[in-house]
Amino acid sequence: MINNLRVTFLGTGTSQGIPIIGSTHPVCLSDNPKDKRLRVSVLLSWDDYNYVIDCGPDFRQQMLTHNVRHLDGILYTHEHSDHTAGLDDIRPFFFRQGNIPIYAHKRVVESLKTRFGYIFQEKNKYPGAPTVNINFINNNESFKIGNSKVIPINVLHNELQVFGFRLGDFTYLTDVKSIEHKEIEKIKGSKVVVVNALRLEPHISHFNLEEAIAFIKDVNPDKAYFTHISHLLGFHDEVEKILPKNIHLAYDNLTITI
Ligand SMILES: [Zn+2]
Repeated sequence: MINNLRVTFLGTGTSQGIPIIGSTHPVCLSDNPKDKRLRVSVLLSWDDYNYVIDCGPDFRQQMLTHNVRHLDGILYTHEHSDHTAGLDDIRPFFFRQGNIPIYAHKRVVESLKTRFGYIFQEKNKYPGAPTVNINFINNNESFKIGNSKVIPINVLHNELQVFGFRLGDFTYLTDVKSIEHKEIEKIKGSKVVVVNALRLEPHISHFNLEEAIAFIKDVNPDKAYFTHISHLLGFHDEVEKILPKNIHLAYDNLTITI
């Protein structure tokens, strides 16, 4: 049971981040800090525990910004690079703490083994390479991190299975395009829900703004935050004005307590 779960948005951007390298789009040129979005991830902290959901290419910078001194594990939503490319940067945690636990679908672990073969190598391993302890997540089986139960939520990212996670009154979902009714039932009753809202136009593998709002109306939490945002959604402050009262755009470095 978690009291006072602190959720820190480490990154709230879509796969290229905002600004996009070389882009002259007005949102990419904005000097509002809320329009600068690293690749999507959250830090979950309670008692003395620190877990991250996903570990993308901005992981190192995110850990430095928030002065994270120890890490109890990484939960993976899926294998795409914007959610996994930072795995090598667990090295400082590994050197101090030993093997770092990861929690992921079997398919995601296989993908990590292909991308980061040296991390999973058992013989003649390079001395500076980190080691992880693998914990497989089965589609419908809850599991424990620290002293908390986690309920995996299955969503679809176009045709790819992706995990969302519910911890007590908090549910985090990213890269959702569709979700079955029985999975929505697992989310209902959450006080705070985070879900992706990519842009205004429809997209093959992500909710756009309209779909994300409709989803939140269905789930009906006290509060919702949108993440995994593209520059094509528009300026943070402008989009925030048109959202229903209980929905906000997340932004990098926002911390909420549940
Ligand atoms: Zn993504």
